[in-house]
Parts: sequence; C-alpha cells; structure tokens
Amino acid sequence: MNKHIYDLFKYDTHVSFEFFPPKTNQGRKQIYQSIARLKNMNPDFFSVTYGAGGTTAERSLEIASALTNLAQVTCVAHITCVGMNRDEVKNLLQSLEFHGISNVLALRGDPPQGQTEFIKPENGFAYASELVRFIRENSNMGILVAGYPEGHKDNPDKKDDFGHLLEKINAGANGIITQLFFDNHCLFDFDKRLRQAGVEIPLIAGIFPISSGSQISRITELSGATIPQELRKGIEKYCDSPEDMEKFGTDFAVRQVTELLKGGINHFHFYTMNRHQQTRNILYQLRRYFPRLNFW
Ligand SMILES: Cc1cc2nc3c(=O)[nH]c(=O)nc-3n(C[C@H](O)[C@H](O)[C@H](O)COP(=O)(O)OP(=O)(O)OC[C@H]3O[C@@H](n4cnc5c(N)ncnc54)[C@H](O)[C@@H]3O)c2cc1C
Repeated sequence: MNKHIYDLFKYDTHVSFEFFPPKTNQGRKQIYQSIARLKNMNPDFFSVTYGAGGTTAERSLEIASALTNLAQVTCVAHITCVGMNRDEVKNLLQSLEFHGISNVLALRGDPPQGQTEFIKPENGFAYASELVRFIRENSNMGILVAGYPEGHKDNPDKKDDFGHLLEKINAGANGIITQLFFDNHCLFDFDKRLRQAGVEIPLIAGIFPISSGSQISRITELSGATIPQELRKGIEKYCDSPEDMEKFGTDFAVRQVTELLKGGINHFHFYTMNRHQQTRNILYQLRRYFPRLNFW
C-alpha cells in the first residue's frame, strides 16, 4: 500500500530500507530476495536510488514499481537534477505517478562518471532546492531531501551548506534523510541546529551496516564521514576475517542506533546494499524499540 511519506511520521519510531538497482541477473535475484525478506518485517518504506546521469533510470523504475505494485509497500523513488530538463523531470514524475509511486527523494545528484563537476542541464535545475520547488508545484508527491550532518563535500563553508538545506526545506520538503555517519555527536549537533532553525519536519538518520573494511574506506572517502576511534580499531582488528567484521559491524550499528534512540532520534533509514540478513539482525537486537516490526 503506497502511502504518502507525511502520513508515515505519525508513529513514534520509524524504519526504512534503501536499495539500488542491480546491474546483473545475480544482483537482481539478490535484490528481490532481500525485498521479500525485509518486506515481511513491515518497514515504513523502501527507497530506490537513481544512478548518476540517469544511467539506471529504467532499472530504478522497475524496482520502484515492483515494490509498489508487487510487494505493495510504500516506495520513495530517488530523483536527481543530472541530465534532465524541466520537461523530462515532469515526464519522470508522471511516469512515477502512473506506476503508483507517490514519494520522491529529490537530489541534485553527483556528476556522471568522467565528469568532475555537476553541470546544470539547459532548462534544468542547478540545486536540489529548485527541484523540490518544481516537484511541489507540479505534482502531489511526498518529498524527502538529503541532509549532511558533517556538511556536503562540495561546500567547505558548513554554515552556508546548512543554509542551503534550509532552502530545500522551505521549498516544500516533508522530511530529511541523512548521509551515513558513524559519529553520533555529528547527528545530535545537526538535529539541534535544525530545531534551533525552527525546522519541524522529521529527521531520518541514515544507518550504514558495516560488513567489510575495504567497503568502509571507499564509503568514507566518498562521504567524508568521520570514523570514531572505536570503529577504526575494530576495522583494523577484524579486516582479515569477513565473519568477524560483519559481527563487529552489526554490534556497532546496534550500539549506534541505541544511543541515537536514547538521545531522541526516532527515525532510521538503513543503507542495505541490497542485502537483508545484517539489517535484519541489527533490528532484531533492537526489536523492543520498534514494536511495529515483525520477525517471524
Ligand atoms: C540519503 C541520500 C540519498 C542519495 N541518493 C542518491 C541517488 O539516488 N543518486 C545520486 O546520484 N546521488 C544520490 N545521493 C548523493 C547526492 O546526489 C550528492 O551528495 C550530491 O552531490 C548532492 O545532492 P543534494 O541533493 O544534497 O544537493 P544540494 O542540496 O543541491 O547541494 C549540493 C551542493 O550545492 C550547494 N548548494 C545548494 N544550494 C546552493 C545555492 N543556492 N547556491 C550555492 N550553492 C548551493 C550545497 O551546499 C552542496 O554543497 C544521495 C545522498 C543522500 C544523502
């Protein structure tokens, strides 16, 4: 059942899962298995990423449509400003609506491979705030936006960057999903700044379950996330044993979410990497905080 995102935030706690469109048949098998397992847990929504430059447009739509119409869960389709003019964005919104999808995560997007900088498409959008305004004016979509607790990598001026987040919110966003982070102080500080600025829409903490050492170096290089000492030591200790590394990552996420819950953060978005077991294990250990989740 595809609900509007703003209808979902009436609950005390909330859990959602992110997927990306797979490139191979094996990847496709894995994502559908994971969707089936995680759907049974009764999360609030699933989201599907949109590849740089629209490279995954068809596959993203396929997965988002399958989630909505076959799995019958609420789906948030990511959409970006990359390579699309206003008419093309309008067409994409209509196509999403046709498939029954009524929520988007509106992003500027990263430049496609081989390009170092984002280039505004002719008659398109330069920033996510412009896209949010356009979607608000041209559709009935529930709209989420991205937030960066440690600041966005392209903008060294953190205050200016935070100001641009407020522009996206003022343009009509219904909620914020954060970039992954491992240091909870960054999130608590971000939450405080939002509340001080008078922001009332929900803040959804992006949780990345760590399953390998090499993955974490790649991800932190891309996101610029701070690695707390405890995490650094764990990665060094367990990087040669995939099983121990995954167990450490699971325990770390359980501790991270517990501390966030105790600090008043109630909404969580898991970057599943199209896998289900580790996210399920994490949430199983946290089940007393999430009474609406199923584990049978
Ligand atoms: C939860 C989440 C999901 C994501 N999913 C995807 C995905 O599916 N596909 C994908 O390609 N990428 C995805 N990304 C990555 C995202 O597209 C990149 O981080 C991108 O570089 C910025 O997108 P944004 O929407 O935050 O941009 P914006 O909010 O537009 O900000 C981009 C940069 O421009 C600056 N800025 C904003 N407004 C102005 C202004 N008016 N004047 C001057 N500077 C300004 C900001 O400070 C920032 O540095 C995701 C990120 C997150 C956190």
